[in-house]
Amino acid sequence: MRRPTSLTNISLLTGLAVAIFSTAIFLLICFLFFLEVRIENLIASSIIVFIISFSAFRFVLNRFINSKIRIIYKTIGKPLKFQQETNRKNDNMLQAVERDVAEWAINKNKQIRELKKMEQYRKEFVGNVSHELKTPIFNAQGYIETLMDSDLDDKDFAKSYLQKASANIDRLEAIVSDLLEISKFETGRIQLDKTAFDLVKLIKKVFFQYQHLAEEHKVKLQVMAEEGEIFVIADEKRMMQVLENLISNSIKYGKEDGATIVRFYDMDEQYLVEVSDNGPGIDEEHIPRLFERFYRADRSRARKVGGTGLGLAIVKNIVEAHEQTISVTSKLDEGTTFSFTLQKSQE
Ligand code: ATP
Ligand code: MG
Repeated sequence: MRRPTSLTNISLLTGLAVAIFSTAIFLLICFLFFLEVRIENLIASSIIVFIISFSAFRFVLNRFINSKIRIIYKTIGKPLKFQQETNRKNDNMLQAVERDVAEWAINKNKQIRELKKMEQYRKEFVGNVSHELKTPIFNAQGYIETLMDSDLDDKDFAKSYLQKASANIDRLEAIVSDLLEISKFETGRIQLDKTAFDLVKLIKKVFFQYQHLAEEHKVKLQVMAEEGEIFVIADEKRMMQVLENLISNSIKYGKEDGATIVRFYDMDEQYLVEVSDNGPGIDEEHIPRLFERFYRADRSRARKVGGTGLGLAIVKNIVEAHEQTISVTSKLDEGTTFSFTLQKSQE
C-alpha cells in the first residue's frame, strides 16, 4: 500500500535537512577559521535551526497547498467542503482531497455513462415512435389512394377499404393516446382517484371482457382467492388498465390450451398480486428492458398479435404512481409471472 503524503513528514524531513546542512556549514567555517565550538551550543543551535525551518516550511507549504486545493475544490464544485477541510487544517487534508477528487471522478464517470445510455435510449425511442406511427399512416394512405383510383360506384368495395383505412387511423390514435398517457405519468400530471374496492370483482370483470380472446386461444382464466374478496385502496379505473394489459398479455403470449391464474398473498400492509401463465416464457435477456416503451420480447410474434409494446410501460407507471412496485419472473417453456403490490384496505 502507498504511504499517504503527510505535510508534517515533508516539513520534518526538510527541517532535518536544513539543520544538518547548516550544522555542517557551521562546522566547516569553525574548521577553516580555527574557531572553538562547544558541543552543547552546537546541538542547541541545530535544534533551533531545525524548529525554525520546520515551522517556516510547514507554514509556507500549508499556504501553497491551500491555494492549490481551493482551485481543485472550485473545479469539482465543492467550495463548502474546502472550507471544512481548511478549518481542520491537519495532515489528513491531503488524503481527504485525494479521496474527494477520486469520488468526484467516479461520480462524473457514472454521470457520463448514464447520459450516454439516455442518449441511446432517446435515439431508440425516436426511431420506434417514427416506425410505429409510419405503419398505420402508410396503410391508411394506401387504402385511400387505391380507393381514389377505383370505381367508387362499387359501394361494398369502397366501404371495405374505408373501414380498413379507419382501423389504421384508430390504431394511430391509440398509439398517440398511449404515448400521451405515459408522458403525463412521467411528468406527474396524473391525479389518482383512490377508493377502497374488491379486486376479485374487478378481475372477474376483466376476465369477462377477455372471455372471447381467451376462448380463441383456448386459455382458461382463473382467480384464486380463499376469502372470496380482496379489498385494496387504489384508483379502480387505473387498476383495471393494469389488469387488462397483464391478463391480455398472458392470453396473447401464453400457449394454446394454457391457463392464466391470478393469486394474492397477504403481506401485512399490502397484498401481492400475481398474474401467471404457463406459456413459452420470456428469455432472460429481455427481462430488464420489458417495461420500456415499445419494447417487445418476441418482435415477430408481438407484431402478429398486434401489440405496440406500450402496455407494460403504462402498467409500470400506474403501479409506481400508487407508490407500489411491479416485477416479472419468467422461465422458458414454463411460463411468466407478473407480480405487483397494492395497499390493503383496513375496512
Ligand atoms: P400493447 O400492450 O401496447 O398492446 P404488447 O402487449 O406487445 O403491446 P406490452 O404489454 O408492453 O406490449 O408487452 C411487451 C412485450 O413483453 C410483449 O410484446 C411480449 O413480447 C412480452 N410479454 C408480455 N407479457 C408476456 C407474457 N405473459 N408471456 C410472454 N411474453 C410476454
Ligand atoms: Mg400488452
